[in-house]
Amino acid sequence: MSKLSFVSPTRNSPWGTYLSQIDAVEPYLGPLARWVETLRRPKRILIVDVPIELDNGTVAHYEGYRVQHSLTRGPGKGGVRYHPDVTLEEVMALAAWMTIKNAAMNLPFGGAKGGIRLEPKALSLKELEKVTRRYTSEIGIVIGPQQDIPAPDVNTNGQIMAWMMDTYSMNTGSTATGVVTGKPIPLGGSLGRVAATGRGVFVIGREAMRRLGLPMDGARVAVQGFGNVGSVAAKLFAHAGARIVAVQDHSGTILNEAGLDMADLLQHLASSGGVGGFAGADTLADEDFWKVKTDVLIPAALEGQITAARALGLQTKLVLEGANGPTTPDGDAVLADRGITVVPDVIANAGGVTVSYFEWVQDFSSFFWTEDEINVRLDKIIIGAFKHICDTAEQHQIPLRTAAFVVACSRVLQARQERGLYP
Ligand code: NAD
Repeated sequence: MSKLSFVSPTRNSPWGTYLSQIDAVEPYLGPLARWVETLRRPKRILIVDVPIELDNGTVAHYEGYRVQHSLTRGPGKGGVRYHPDVTLEEVMALAAWMTIKNAAMNLPFGGAKGGIRLEPKALSLKELEKVTRRYTSEIGIVIGPQQDIPAPDVNTNGQIMAWMMDTYSMNTGSTATGVVTGKPIPLGGSLGRVAATGRGVFVIGREAMRRLGLPMDGARVAVQGFGNVGSVAAKLFAHAGARIVAVQDHSGTILNEAGLDMADLLQHLASSGGVGGFAGADTLADEDFWKVKTDVLIPAALEGQITAARALGLQTKLVLEGANGPTTPDGDAVLADRGITVVPDVIANAGGVTVSYFEWVQDFSSFFWTEDEINVRLDKIIIGAFKHICDTAEQHQIPLRTAAFVVACSRVLQARQERGLYP
């Protein structure tokens, strides 16, 4: 089968990582393997130029993407990332992981992702709004409440979703709340959405710890990334009795063997923008984060963090992937050899897209649920999905990641088979 001509993935690059995960699942797909090649190719890729006038009067151009990896089971669904390292290859992998995640959770969505290569911290609020609105207009030809529904990801938030919703609505001439999720509540956002990914990381982590016989009380936890996902997960673990001993973000790495005070740390984060320099902890060299002795390690920043070299030095029992794609294939192999359990991203961080699904349903029905209803339904779906994936892992004697891919790919390819090829 010919390879895609427009990317050159390496084994441990994001798309290369995804391809090796598909290779691993293929032997377990039975007759559905006939269709597996569709998973190795995104359905549709849109690359857009995003020009804006900066505050100083000059014109800047940014490169933006929207990749729809699969629309087989429903509309595209996946976040939008603003980061200086965003590439087409990365967005392709993130879109593909959304296909797998949505199918693993049995949500009626395909998989998509978007991104703009820029450093958002270098832009004023006005410039950020202009970039967001122009990008939304440019990708307007492929998104929509029934086509593809973006959401927040790294460096994007409810405000950016509000601008996207407004821009799309102005362009189409009617208010389309269901075009994005992760919106502010007054615009049709869902209660519980902001915390949902971190909450899902915690709930799945708690279930996995039970299965491994690890007590929550006093458990040592380290978290990389203290944003939307990492900070909420850390807070919930601390609340349940665990000790957050180390945190790393873009501003530095901090350690407190007795457990970091979450309220103080969140206050420090709000005032300084990062965890670095927090008075209630010692500073650690960044690379030493990976050697801290823990029961649970939560990578919740970016992909490609747990390399083979770092995996060899990890002193943990459970890796809970809050981020998308934080473990390279080589890292994964080392963790498997060392008997360290990995709960993969496509289950561990699926709480966000699950509540995004609830938000989309609520927008369509214009009937909104209470936060309790949201959380009860969220826990039910993710705990049920996790059990199903654990059972599949046991049945085939395979790692949880491969099991999640078996469940998800089987659903996508079954739908592919039933739909047949057009024309
Ligand atoms: P965020 O922008 O809120 O936070 C990102 C965090 O990562 C920040 O604390 C930042 O300082 C840290 N970081 C950035 N570069 C780093 C580096 N080089 N080293 C260490 N830390 C670094 O983003 P988020 O929404 O929390 O997303 C984090 C991860 O979770 C991403 O992989 C994202 O795709 C994934 N994810 C997010 C959601 C969601 O609902 N937000 C859902 C599923 C998965």
